[in-house]
Amino acid sequence: AAGTARLYTEDDPLVLLGSGSLKRSVSSNSSSAWLVQFYSSWCGHCIQFSSTWKALAHDVQDWDTIIHIAVVDCAQDDNFDICKEYGVSFYPTFRVSNCSADRGVQTLRELMINFLQNHTRLGKPDHCPPLEPFNLRDLLPLLGQKSAHYTAIIIEHPTSYVGREVILDLSKYTGIVVRRALSTDTPLVDKLKITAFPSAYLLHPNGTHTHLYMQLRFFFTSFLRGLQGVQRRQTKDHSAPNHMGALSEHHSTDPWREFDSSKVYMADLESALHYLLRVELATHNTLGGEELKTFKSVVTVIAKLYPGRASVQKVMENLLDWLVRLPLESIPYQAILDLVDDKMRISSLSLGAEVRWVGCQGSRPGLRGYPCSLWTLFHMLTVQYDASPKLLAGTALEGDPAAVLNAMRGYIGTFFGCEQCGRHFEEMAAQSLDQVKTTEDAVIWLWSKHNQVNSRLAGSLSDDPVFPKSPWPSPALCPACHQEKEGVHTWNEEQVLAFLRQHYGAGNLSPRYLP
Ligand code: FAD
Repeated sequence: AAGTARLYTEDDPLVLLGSGSLKRSVSSNSSSAWLVQFYSSWCGHCIQFSSTWKALAHDVQDWDTIIHIAVVDCAQDDNFDICKEYGVSFYPTFRVSNCSADRGVQTLRELMINFLQNHTRLGKPDHCPPLEPFNLRDLLPLLGQKSAHYTAIIIEHPTSYVGREVILDLSKYTGIVVRRALSTDTPLVDKLKITAFPSAYLLHPNGTHTHLYMQLRFFFTSFLRGLQGVQRRQTKDHSAPNHMGALSEHHSTDPWREFDSSKVYMADLESALHYLLRVELATHNTLGGEELKTFKSVVTVIAKLYPGRASVQKVMENLLDWLVRLPLESIPYQAILDLVDDKMRISSLSLGAEVRWVGCQGSRPGLRGYPCSLWTLFHMLTVQYDASPKLLAGTALEGDPAAVLNAMRGYIGTFFGCEQCGRHFEEMAAQSLDQVKTTEDAVIWLWSKHNQVNSRLAGSLSDDPVFPKSPWPSPALCPACHQEKEGVHTWNEEQVLAFLRQHYGAGNLSPRYLP
């Protein structure tokens, strides 16, 4: 298949198998099941089907300790023999025959569940939780009892898959056990007084219970994952260092600050600016050439678009005026610092010189903090720019709908202390930033790329177990942002845009905890 583009790459959340790795992975003593698609990279139907297969892999990526999604390219010479050999179903692999599947994600997902449930001959994969329905006898001993964890029972019609999907979605989480029961189980349904399906009956660790009626798998999953004390087991990248550790300065003696995740805190934004100007920039003795250009763009977007305290904006305006007036090829960092500290007594204003994380507090040192505040800052700036594009009039960035994103791209690539993050961000920007044609596109672009990063990092070492990374905004923050099409979660982008405008709008900024 020389010359054909690869249909799947390492960036897809699935396993690329070849003749050697297939035998090693899919051996009968594998602790998990495998769903392997044998395809040919030149076959038109396979090319079409690849988008479904990738969507499936994304949809069930959290099931991967139980069942892996994989592909083998039978058009590669090395794989000829193995493709012949595996031409028949073979436990624990089940084979989706070569491109015959005109199936949607939902059907494939149901097929996976049926497979997990029915392949009892060789036993279930090691980590597979029970998928069979609970009955009243199982349930009675739990009612009203204290426990070390939550128990959620999803009561659903017999034809529904929601319960099993949510059980598998939560399979990597501790602090919760999810079971299902059937609407046809009259004694159980009567005892729990449930009349609408699907519903979740949630037993709390303290012995009380609540009852939730929702329609969609994603809503159940997101709600249960968000319960206090429910945490994702860290499984990915155990060998990889936490790249963000050094960037998340945290004073462990700081008292915990209660906060509301539907608000944006000025204290986080000001801490971001302090860290950016006094800590991150300080590693550069002088700024010249491209670095200086990037720095000017960053200062421009902040000075013109920053929606927080006027005094902070003024400091940035002074810095910008000075940078614009200065014809120097390069400037010493110390001069910038003097301005920020107002050593020259220009305005008797200076930028607060401490970090005080609020919405960006981490549950322990090394988590959240600066990178969280940097995302927050740039989301705000894209939203401000969209609300008032005229604010950049008269600057070097006037008229560029991607002005904020370009400044961010430059900053992340040049100054951001996490090099690997910079490389990833640059890849995403190189791929699609040129498609941003309006300020609205820019708001949505950054939201969507941030979600890509969230999904890549979920369960990694930089994921704070108390604030686990997940698709954002959650259904709790914006129910209307979520919908389901043919059983697959999708975003309602119109609603997402409206939500981002509100969430990152100047009106949603809280001054609480400012020094
Ligand atoms: P963050 O992801 O920092 O999010 C901050 C806040 O933004 C959230 O609390 C939420 O309120 C809001 N939010 C979340 N998602 C969205 C969204 N989609 N749209 C709008 N708002 C949202 N770390 C790595 O380990 N590897 C990397 O490759 C990596 N790349 C990064 C690239 C960039 C450009 C940046 C700024 C950071 C990167 N990081 C990377 C750090 C990582 O993304 C997090 O910032 C860090 O782990 C802290 O996570 P957090 O839980 O505070 O939430």
